[in-house]
Amino acid sequence: MGPARAERLARLGLRTARDILFLFPRDFEHPAPEADVADLCEGIAASLVGTITDAELVSRTPGRSLFAAIVENPTGAVRILFFNQPFRAEQLTLDRRVLISGVPKMHGLRMEFTHPKVTILDDEEDMPRPRILPVYPLTEGVKQSDLRRLAAETTRILAGSLTEVMPEHLRRQSGEFLRSHGIDFAGDLPGIETALRWLHEPADESALVAARMRLVFQELLVMQLALAMRRRKLTTDLRAPSLESSAMIDARIVNRFPFELTGDQRRAIDEIRHDMARQFPMNRLLQGDVGSGKTVVAVYAMMLAVANRHQAVLMAPTEVLTRQHYETLSTTLAASRVRIGLLCGSLTGKQRREVVAATAAGEIDLLIGTQALLYSEVEFKQLGLCVIDEQHKFGVRQRVMLRSGGVDPHYLVMSATPIPRSIAMTMFGDVDLSTLREKPPGRGSVRTYLAQDGWKDRWWGFVRERIDEGRQAFVVAPRVAATTSDDTDDAEDASSVEAVFEQLCNGPLSEYRVGLLHGRMPHSDKQAIMESFASGRLQVLVSTTVIEVGIDVPNATVMTILGAQRFGLAQLHQLRGRISRGSHTGHVCVFTDGEDSPQENERLKVFEQTEDGFDLAEADFSLRGPGDLLGKKQSGLPPMRIADLNRDIEILVAARSLAQQMIDEDPELAAEDLAELRHQIMHRYGKRLELGDVV
Ligand code: ADP
Ligand code: MG
Repeated sequence: MGPARAERLARLGLRTARDILFLFPRDFEHPAPEADVADLCEGIAASLVGTITDAELVSRTPGRSLFAAIVENPTGAVRILFFNQPFRAEQLTLDRRVLISGVPKMHGLRMEFTHPKVTILDDEEDMPRPRILPVYPLTEGVKQSDLRRLAAETTRILAGSLTEVMPEHLRRQSGEFLRSHGIDFAGDLPGIETALRWLHEPADESALVAARMRLVFQELLVMQLALAMRRRKLTTDLRAPSLESSAMIDARIVNRFPFELTGDQRRAIDEIRHDMARQFPMNRLLQGDVGSGKTVVAVYAMMLAVANRHQAVLMAPTEVLTRQHYETLSTTLAASRVRIGLLCGSLTGKQRREVVAATAAGEIDLLIGTQALLYSEVEFKQLGLCVIDEQHKFGVRQRVMLRSGGVDPHYLVMSATPIPRSIAMTMFGDVDLSTLREKPPGRGSVRTYLAQDGWKDRWWGFVRERIDEGRQAFVVAPRVAATTSDDTDDAEDASSVEAVFEQLCNGPLSEYRVGLLHGRMPHSDKQAIMESFASGRLQVLVSTTVIEVGIDVPNATVMTILGAQRFGLAQLHQLRGRISRGSHTGHVCVFTDGEDSPQENERLKVFEQTEDGFDLAEADFSLRGPGDLLGKKQSGLPPMRIADLNRDIEILVAARSLAQQMIDEDPELAAEDLAELRHQIMHRYGKRLELGDVV
């Protein structure tokens, strides 16, 4: 083709014939069933092929133009109308053959289509009709019909010379796996040539389904094979101490807890025991809502390491959390011989040096610290387990390297952000997952309300009643006021946490002891405020989302979230978790300061209706898509080109189980007819997943 056209196509990323072959339509047009004119019914969508026998720009008045034409075929004639689309006069000229589809209406004696969808049919392309038409992404100067023709032509000429990545037996097996995973798919996956033909010129719905399935499945299978190879590589390349647990050790640890473990906790613990007994590192993510009892599971794992005469370390993201963990553990283990150390920023230089020295000498069994310090300063005598409390941040991909004596420790990462199933199987595909869904008994539930117009007074009244009953309240505002006056506009300022604090102190909560907390305050002030709130001296805490992490005040049962449209669902859920710590029912009310009232905000509606963090994560995922949820760069994996992790979750599950079976049987995919497949895996994932020399 000429350089000008090539240039335009390049803007769509189309530089080679291969790019065009694999140009995936972003949608398909499914014309309504083709009808005879006599069978058209008012109000029911239909398609019709015919020739334009009359065409007229009835009115040219700008803004009120009308174009009308007659489309005729042997079964009769209909009228089509376009208002304010004068260009139709040039497009729909006499004798053109067109496919129209739309919803007809009777007008006089004739059926009429207003603004039908029109496809110009080229006589030379004698296509079966009505057929499914691919809809490609476009750019300026490239028309849909151009791309359709180009893709169809390229496929006819070149698809046959592509190398098949999935040999026939694999395509058959894939079909079987899809069916055994409950997916309605008949037969084998088609070969690549057939799939591409069916994709770019689908004769019917079933051809399209098969073509799509082949390409989606291949993309997911390649990814899952890469992840399975990586899981396997981690088990063969790395060494970790085998930390075994006898029934006696188990009983001894469990007896330290002043309560029965929940079923989910027991299951997670058993998974961890199994992992830690092996000679390669555990790589496990423990997920559960705030308050689901993750810390207890982590304590179990740490005790197990100590019982095997190894050290354990617990890292937390903030100083507050680090101290909180230190206190919890010190209490739980008060009667034991376990020696606990604390390493955080507020220690004096001397204190720090002592802790570091004691850790290196093996005089500390359990070290608790902030991540930054632990990475930079510490060496262990014999580290067996590393627990990372991520709270709600994702970050498991980044393996920490705390080795001692040439072996790796076992890793347990705790996260309070539930991960949707498809994310767990992709981005975290090389991590094992334990989930705490069940709440420990005696936890209060939380009622969520979306504020309606004029609710503020009523709501503050409700808050006062709760405080008068002896409870405490959080008020969350989105931000700290801007520091320079230049970029301060009034609306923004009114929703700042300082402004809210002022308003409440001088208004609805003037009778109460109210404290202010935000991230820009000096550390010691923050600490003091949190302690006053925790001790009950402060009755209300007005705060930014800094309270998301850390504070544990069971007596706080009411929360007001202002400017809620600015928060993500996961964040809102984390906030809500702060008032389900005790046995009282919590109440959270959500206000917005934007245009939309909370009632009209989709995300907030989901938040109101969904109490379970896992359901919420799934809903969030389908509202926003995975990229948004996780941030593209965090994922570490290339984006899917064809598969949609949301819609194709069942296919993903099937691909995963086939991949696992293939790698179990042939770890390096050494079979001769899988060479192309292996090549594709390495090309796409080899570097990123450090599969390196598995060629
Ligand atoms: P998470 O770390 O998931 O936020 P924690 O482990 O801190 O949760 O547990 C929250 C609270 O629930 C703690 O006070 C803990 O002692 C308590 N808890 C944990 N497991 C149980 C259980 N099985 N039965 C009763 N209380 C429990
Ligand atoms: Mg916790």
